[in-house]
Amino acid sequence: TESRVANFGAGPSALPESVLTEAAQGLLNFNNTGIGIAEISHRSKEFGAYIKDFEEIIREQLDVPSTHSILFVQGGGTGQFSAVVLNLLARHRLLHPDLPYDQRIMDYVVTGSWSKAAADEARRLSAGKAMLNIAADARGHSADGKSFDNIPPHSAYKFSADPALIYYCENETVNGVQFAHEDGAPTAFPFHLLPKNTLLPLVADYSSSFMSRPIPRLADHAIVYAGAQKNVGPAGLTILIVRNDCIVDVDAAARLGAVPVPIGMAYAPYAKNDSMPNTPPVLAVYISGLVMKRNQELGGVAYYEAVNRRKQEKVYEVVKEGEAKGVLRGKVKEGSGSWMNIVFGVVGDGAEGRFLAGAEKKGMKGLKGHRSVGGIRVSLYNAVTEEQTDELVAYIKEFIAEEA
Ligand code: PMP
Repeated sequence: TESRVANFGAGPSALPESVLTEAAQGLLNFNNTGIGIAEISHRSKEFGAYIKDFEEIIREQLDVPSTHSILFVQGGGTGQFSAVVLNLLARHRLLHPDLPYDQRIMDYVVTGSWSKAAADEARRLSAGKAMLNIAADARGHSADGKSFDNIPPHSAYKFSADPALIYYCENETVNGVQFAHEDGAPTAFPFHLLPKNTLLPLVADYSSSFMSRPIPRLADHAIVYAGAQKNVGPAGLTILIVRNDCIVDVDAAARLGAVPVPIGMAYAPYAKNDSMPNTPPVLAVYISGLVMKRNQELGGVAYYEAVNRRKQEKVYEVVKEGEAKGVLRGKVKEGSGSWMNIVFGVVGDGAEGRFLAGAEKKGMKGLKGHRSVGGIRVSLYNAVTEEQTDELVAYIKEFIAEEA
């Protein structure tokens, strides 16, 4: 572990070292079965018990109500861009069998690259028919009229009366914008503006903030989903929290004219078979389970909320300092900044290169911003420690002093 660096990468990203050490043992011998975790049958009673346990820890940590199921699938966030559309269009068909296809509206809140990608997939799956409503687009509220640098004001949202789904991305990993989690804050998700129907088809992509802090109004969501590969574990596992009325018979919907749903994307078989209608990503479930057990011992999501709050405060503060000295430039509007991914620019010719090279010399990697945004991106996922954050902040202070 001596050779390991501080990994501020955006995903896949740092995992706790103690978990990796334990996982190395499990690769050789899982829970005293004499068989390694990548080799054991997912139908074995040991793995069956393990995945149940994992599910229970998530339920307890996030206080998931009994109205919702926890499902483990594959396909990543991208798989869910498609799956949420297909499953919720099927649900809408069962609720309103006679509505023409092009009157099934899907509301998308677009605040960054990932929600835009999800909206693009919804458009693609609707075969170009006019059924997408962009409920808000943050670019219209940005400093330059084209950047994803903000969570739009509540006055910007226009939701439909009875959409098949309402979609948002809670934390935009690339752009570094995130909805505030204090209910009612100006940059919180505008729950109060949603149609007043019960059982709203509200979908949230929590890929890059899952388990970093509690989920506001979890019970009001139809689907919350997250790829594991940021705060929870390795890539290959996707975690879904689905309200039970959204687990529908997609074949019955197809008989009424809904788009057929590929079997690996339908939620019902996963719900019926404890997430194992087919082979789950056994190794990813295992490592994610170890991470969640460790979380629980540390004090769970409340613990991480407190630590993550301090980590991001420290980094935003030093970025502000750098701005005041003309060395750094924040890229996100105040109040919209992400706790998990902090995006800023370095001012001046070659300065960004000097910043990255200096960081690397000190054993800090993964700081280069996404190619679509440029600049620096500091990802502060759960496994990035407060000490590592302090070291980064100290480095940034030094850098500012040198460049100012
Ligand atoms: N949504 C968000 C918020 C993400 O950060 C990512 C990946 N970084 C995705 C979706 C896409 O996930 P995947 O790569 O697992 O398909």
